[in-house]
Amino acid sequence: MSSVLERFLRYVQIDTQSDPNSETFPSTAKQRNLSNLLAEELRALGVADAHVDDHGYVYATIPSNSDRKDIPVICFCSHVDTSPDVTGENVKPIVHRNWDGSDIILPDDHSQVLRIGELHDLDQQIGNDIVTASGSTLLGADNKAGVAEIMAAAEYLLANPQIKHGDIKILFTPDEEVGRGTENVDLQKLGADFGYTVDGEAIGTLEDETFSADGVKITIHGVSTHPGYAIGKLENALKIAAEILARLPKDTLSPETTQDKEGFIHPVQMEGIQEKAVLSFIIRDFTVAGLHEKEAFLKGIMEEVLKAYPNSSGEFKVQEQYRNMKEVLDQHPEVIKNALTAMERVGLNPIQRSIRGGTDGSRLSYMGLPCPNIFAGEHAFHSKLEWVSVQDMEKAVEVIVELATVWEEK
Ligand SMILES: [Zn+2]
Repeated sequence: MSSVLERFLRYVQIDTQSDPNSETFPSTAKQRNLSNLLAEELRALGVADAHVDDHGYVYATIPSNSDRKDIPVICFCSHVDTSPDVTGENVKPIVHRNWDGSDIILPDDHSQVLRIGELHDLDQQIGNDIVTASGSTLLGADNKAGVAEIMAAAEYLLANPQIKHGDIKILFTPDEEVGRGTENVDLQKLGADFGYTVDGEAIGTLEDETFSADGVKITIHGVSTHPGYAIGKLENALKIAAEILARLPKDTLSPETTQDKEGFIHPVQMEGIQEKAVLSFIIRDFTVAGLHEKEAFLKGIMEEVLKAYPNSSGEFKVQEQYRNMKEVLDQHPEVIKNALTAMERVGLNPIQRSIRGGTDGSRLSYMGLPCPNIFAGEHAFHSKLEWVSVQDMEKAVEVIVELATVWEEK
């Protein structure tokens, strides 16, 4: 089952960094270099319809080989781009075979050291083959581990027609790291009923919950006058805005004071002049009711502060950003159940968990493609210490193959 390492090493050497400041789509043209290669490789494997569309998405179908006609169409999805945080140019992957647990000092920068105790899950990998970068770049396991795993699973399914499955769709997206991965996706064309992003961390994990997210913009209209003649008249919008921020609780409801399933109210920008000030917030919670509670609380603070400024006013605008995928997935319990079954069948103890953030899967779920996230084995992403083990990648390939058969049987 193991073209996965060889594929992974090939893909990470192609620079596909995305750019948050770009207005084009994809944000960087170089992402197409990998997309084009993947489509070519899929066609060489016999996936006739594999192609890259105008926006740089790869679409492909492994046709059903089952006699059953009512099998749901499932899709496996990964992103080709890497994080803008660390360069992805000239990645030199290194395989540390049969790792003995000692420090891994990266050759191009000796200050970059992978050490047990400092890196999450590394202690689970003794005896495994660890892949790292060389110290001056990221590795790109996020998400090229997922890409390589889906490709290796496709190859395996095509080489083993005795393994029955329904139509399997493959989707590789650009620009996930800059939050635009679903911007130009064509779900109608994709034609899948359910999806799985393969972009999770530790072996055995399945993420089916994300934050629900809103943005709030508070605009304060103060009363502006010449400061020399302002007595009794001036109501400074900047001071009103500052007072609102000062009334936010210090010991709760902020990113720096919450964890697990707790949400928060987080100011991200303020700008203004004495006449008008704008405060921007992000609001996060795992439930929509929790979001609304926090928004009502924030609005209450604004109204309370404004009471002392009779000639000023405030606008409070909420904009929906994304929603917890669990609200969609709960309506399709078989999506999670089948993934857990597949993991158990390949000998894993699945771990279901939530993400304090959003994924392309949360957006896809609300666009009509219920889409949890399964592990790819990638770790320490967006850093020069990024690593993945060959054994975890191979297990992910097994899970993808098994998942295809579980859907065929049900
Ligand atoms: Zn990712």
